Amino acid sequence: MKRVSILGSTGSIGTQTLDVISHHPGRFAVEALAGGQNVPLLVEQAKRFRPKKVSVASKELAAEIKGQLPSGTEVLYGEEGLIEAAAGTEADYVVTAIVGSLGLRPTLAAIEAGKAIGLANKETLVSAGHLVTELAQKRGVKLLPIDSEHSAIFQCLNGEDLSRIRKITLTASGGSFRDRTRAELTHVTVEDALKHPNWSMGAKITIDSATMVNKGLEVIEAHWLFGASYDDIEVIIHPESIVHSFVEFVDHSIIAQLGNPDMRVPIQYALTYPDRLHTPTKPLDLTELGKLHFRKMDFSRFPCLKMAFDSGRSGGTATTVFNAANEVAVARFLQGEIRFLQIEEIIYETLAAHQATANPSLDEIIEADAWARQRAEAWKSL
Ligand code: NDP
Ligand code: MG
Repeated sequence: MKRVSILGSTGSIGTQTLDVISHHPGRFAVEALAGGQNVPLLVEQAKRFRPKKVSVASKELAAEIKGQLPSGTEVLYGEEGLIEAAAGTEADYVVTAIVGSLGLRPTLAAIEAGKAIGLANKETLVSAGHLVTELAQKRGVKLLPIDSEHSAIFQCLNGEDLSRIRKITLTASGGSFRDRTRAELTHVTVEDALKHPNWSMGAKITIDSATMVNKGLEVIEAHWLFGASYDDIEVIIHPESIVHSFVEFVDHSIIAQLGNPDMRVPIQYALTYPDRLHTPTKPLDLTELGKLHFRKMDFSRFPCLKMAFDSGRSGGTATTVFNAANEVAVARFLQGEIRFLQIEEIIYETLAAHQATANPSLDEIIEADAWARQRAEAWKSL
């Protein structure tokens, strides 16, 4: 029996993780569930999965949820609640599925406590990749990727010598505006941006897919997870999201991982690794599909991806700032305060004003994150 805690259980990845767990009765026990604002869903989950601890975003919500939970369930809140849900239980496995760099401290706490990590919260690795990977190595903790591209690469690399990799290629669907020109992006709406062609995901990552920031975050995530240099990571557009990513080895042999787009597959693989179990996902029939398409990435169409590579190469706090500026810009776009193309302007101007610190400590990361957020908030609106 694997004992699991889920940070962000009420989100897209969190609910799908619980769906995976419910398909394998007796295989998993849920130790803690942490959500943000969605009290009704968290109550429903707690009644069904009987965690010992439940965490919500604030003290007020903790008071609201308390009387609605099965007796004996401990209620926690805020960042401390997330840390306790991550590290203060009997769980041997933590799924990090909250959104944003808020996941950093809880993830570090879980690793410090020796829990294996099912990693969905990519912003954590982007913000502080060296701290997370160094601590995981020191504590002998596995970081099992949930992101579909990284799960694909992880599966392609099974048993391979990392020094024999020639190139890692991440595939990108292109997001909701893949076939629009930059001129056509000037007045796009939040509603349009939230219509992803292939995946149903949380709002933030859906906008990140439209700006291609998501793929930028994934390039940095791949750098940290697989120790790949930025020169050996490439991104191509693959509109169907069937080939989830691939690896070319020094002999020019390519291994790819394919499947219909369904996050429950990578989530389950991260939970059961190295085992594989049945999933309810629709099997892939390549003859039914007939064709797959691939095209070169155009950095002038998607400048955010270029900024991600540049900040990755700069290293240190540059990626922390890239991520934090984007988090604020996306939130402001979702609130209707800025236009779509202003997301990239905010990231660009925040990065340009930042003096990166190499090999930053946790305090320096938190400081750079706060600085970038403040600056991105202050950026002039419409
Ligand atoms: P969602 O927006 O659907 O879910 C986010 C989760 O975080 C919710 O449970 C939310 O709680 C919780 N949360 C937000 N703010 C707080 C807070 N202040 N305190 C505690 N919890 C909080 O996001 P996704 O599931 O789409 O994404 C989660 C992570 O996984 C992201 O890092 C994303 O990049 C990554 N990812 C997602 C994929 C997907 O298919 N969705 C694919 C690959 C990676 P509540 O709703 O209760 O407020
Ligand atoms: Mg992905």
